[in-house]
Amino acid sequence: MPVNAVSVGELCRFVARQGDLDLRFTPAPLAEEGRELHQWVAEQRTAEWGDDFSAEVSLSIEHAGITLRGRADGWLPTLPQVEEVKSFRGKLNKMPENRRSLHWAQVQCYGWMLCEREQLETIRLALVYVDADQHSEQILVEYWTRADLAARCTAWCQAYADWLARLTTHREARLAAAAQLAFPYNAMHAGQRTLAENVYIASQRGQSLLAEAPTGTGKTLACLFPALKASARYDKCFFLTAKTPGRALALEGLRQLALEPLVVVELIARTKACEYPGQACHGEECPLAQGFFDRLPAARAAAFERQWLDAAALRQVAAEFSICPYYLSQEMCRWADVVVADYNYYFDAGGLLHALVQENGWRALLLIDEAHNLADRARAMYSCALTRKDNRAVRKLLPTALHKSLKAVDRQWTQLVKPLAEGERKRLAALPEKFLAALQQFVHACNQWQADSGRSLPEPVLEFYFSVVQLCKLAEMPAEQLAQDYIVDVTKIARGEAALHLRNGLPGRWLAPRFEVAHAAVIFSATLSPMEFPRRLLGLPEDTALLKVPSPFCAEQLSVTVHRKLSTRFAHRAASLPALVAVIGEQCLAAPGNYLAFFSSFDYLQQVERLLSARYPMLRLNSQTRHMREQDRQAFVAGFDAGSQCLGLAVLGGAFSEGIDLPGNRLVGAFVATLGLPQFNPVNEEMRQLMDRQFGNGYAYTYLYPGLQKVVQAAGRVIRKTTDNGCVHLLDDRFADAEVRQLLPDWWQIELG
Ligand code: SF4
Repeated sequence: MPVNAVSVGELCRFVARQGDLDLRFTPAPLAEEGRELHQWVAEQRTAEWGDDFSAEVSLSIEHAGITLRGRADGWLPTLPQVEEVKSFRGKLNKMPENRRSLHWAQVQCYGWMLCEREQLETIRLALVYVDADQHSEQILVEYWTRADLAARCTAWCQAYADWLARLTTHREARLAAAAQLAFPYNAMHAGQRTLAENVYIASQRGQSLLAEAPTGTGKTLACLFPALKASARYDKCFFLTAKTPGRALALEGLRQLALEPLVVVELIARTKACEYPGQACHGEECPLAQGFFDRLPAARAAAFERQWLDAAALRQVAAEFSICPYYLSQEMCRWADVVVADYNYYFDAGGLLHALVQENGWRALLLIDEAHNLADRARAMYSCALTRKDNRAVRKLLPTALHKSLKAVDRQWTQLVKPLAEGERKRLAALPEKFLAALQQFVHACNQWQADSGRSLPEPVLEFYFSVVQLCKLAEMPAEQLAQDYIVDVTKIARGEAALHLRNGLPGRWLAPRFEVAHAAVIFSATLSPMEFPRRLLGLPEDTALLKVPSPFCAEQLSVTVHRKLSTRFAHRAASLPALVAVIGEQCLAAPGNYLAFFSSFDYLQQVERLLSARYPMLRLNSQTRHMREQDRQAFVAGFDAGSQCLGLAVLGGAFSEGIDLPGNRLVGAFVATLGLPQFNPVNEEMRQLMDRQFGNGYAYTYLYPGLQKVVQAAGRVIRKTTDNGCVHLLDDRFADAEVRQLLPDWWQIELG
């Protein structure tokens, strides 16, 4: 659509929603069902009215400098009547007010457009609701004059045109400011410049770029600066991160660049943004959902004016207008220039940002930070697990009418695990048909119950229901994809408990369309080598540009020692423990300062901790524990200040092995007592076979590459600046192997000890 063209749907969404936010789950017809029901209504009308009736009538009109376009579902000039058809499930009187007002607004727009086109003075507006289960229709009718419709619709067009004018002014000012934008520091260093130039080229050309840039490159600014400079080439920039600290870094980078005007939105999880945890998102329970749409226009305008919309700012604006901050943040994504959010907002099956790209045809530039995490995160998004325990747990909370369908699922569990011994795991070629049918029947029964009762399932049941829905949806994928990309297995656990998993190993098939629809994607991290690994695993386009930025650091800054006499293989751990503890203890005594030591598990960490405490009681130890809360994690990091002498013990791949910044004397050395290889077990071995079939290098793709990426991330905590010095001790003989050494940073000068 041209810039000043707007669809009837978009106009009405903007101007005509009223009343409460109401996100009570209501089952809706599938898109395919909806199309069939529209077709069914059109056939009824044609049968009744013959050639007088026209379906799907394209309309357009110009007003206030915008072109309004849309397609009315039915038009009968002899009455004259225009129809808008909506399919639904459940009770029509339970339909939220904001949805009903939206539907009326749409048919009013069509009525106005037809009055103007046909020069009619009055028209009959029909809102046709088709019950997807009953195949019956309810028709709501209003009679309008052309003058009244024109008064209403021209006011809406004017309101939207005013908003568009504001957006246009903002965009022009932003592009002019971006053209003048200067890098916030005197100069970029060489690596940073290389990265920035390549990001600029990718943004200009609409190409994907996979960039490995070591710690210290200043990646965030090197990506954001050229992205903003090239912003005339795309509509939205999404800075996507794996973890909360990544979001903070992106926001800090944007603050430093200080481009003005620029609307920046930070999306955080609903659980963190919610002001009424435990309440449901509708006006009867949450005061911030009450009248949400009535106050949204003023809140939206105020938020847009404010421009800097991190979580705190959104909370303030939302409080000022008494609306929900989380759903305000979702609304503001539509009007933002830059959105900073977790990966799942774009890559998850129902990701908001991806849905907006599809809906609006935006050209989106994706900046994907810490991208070595993306494969695992995407696997989790497209995997699913069900346990029999969950099945039993929800039974107590489930409405009686649904017990029968849940029992049928439980019977299928019995069949599924019957041939298995306790503790036995079995790989399945696909989900057993009868099991899947029972799950689908359960979903259908839940939908029916919600439709008939007009109520939502209780919250814990709803979670279980969504897991079942997700599993049923995944099971719809082509058999070939399931066989190639997934491991399906069932395990019989003790006392009748069992678990069924659909484990995704190759997320590329899900991610590739997400990259395709984007204008360009810059996928960057300090650890992506070898580059073919993430390129193929993530499903990046063949023509993705690959870039390895040289490190700004030199070998003299970091002494790296491989201890060949130590083995941390599980079978050797007890024997090597005293020698390993001696290396750590002696280093800490010889060069006092702050150190971090990384282990493969908490058990191993605790063994080392006990022996260190006994043999080196003078060392101040600070150990990571399982399930640390956010404030405990912050306290752990705060324990490493420039004047302290602290030895932190942590698990490789955990909260302290990446994403923390301890420059200068805050960290002078690291010990890595593991290669980070995922555990050898039947699931990982099957994953290896899956990788082997796909890439021909299953061991490296499953174990070696992911493990070494974690090692390099952890060791990368030591040297953060060109003025830093320190040491890394690699406490395992396998680090001396050629295939492992080639995965370590090429600027390291490694001594074999
Ligand atoms: S404040 Fe919480 S409960 Fe209320 S609408 Fe927002 S997210 Fe829902």
